[in-house]
Amino acid sequence: MRLLINLKHLETKELHLSGEFPLEDLDLDIRDELQHVDKPLVYDLVVEQQAKDILVKGSLDLPIQCECIRCLKLFPTSVHLEKWTCNLSLEGDDRVPVENDFVDLTPYVRDDILLEFPQHPLCDKECGGLPKAELQKRNHGGDDLMDSSEWAKLDKLKF
Ligand SMILES: [Zn+2]
Repeated sequence: MRLLINLKHLETKELHLSGEFPLEDLDLDIRDELQHVDKPLVYDLVVEQQAKDILVKGSLDLPIQCECIRCLKLFPTSVHLEKWTCNLSLEGDDRVPVENDFVDLTPYVRDDILLEFPQHPLCDKECGGLPKAELQKRNHGGDDLMDSSEWAKLDKLKF
């Protein structure tokens, strides 16, 4: 599936595009291992033509799962663009490709969604990282490795 604008229809009236866009067709190139996407993108857009420009306005919402950089907890959030706008030109050097009277909006949506991914996700602004108890347990666990029997073995090696 692609998010297409029918230019023939656009000549007479503005177009409303809304629905869910399958992830596999959005083909997001997510390099960050802390972020997981498993739900479709929800879009609700109005498209209008003004002279030789296509104006796209509306909202994009992609539910994602992020790993908190402090406490490593996985938490649900979303990449949400409430007032997304996209201006596409039908003329000039940077005009959009038109294929059989259709303009494909997919790459513009993909690029802007990727830009909005959180760079340093936090489950909460106040997140204090791993709880102290957890850290103490870890440190304590380290000490336990050197229990008396280990020392005894070392002593045997020495003598
Ligand atoms: Zn956290």
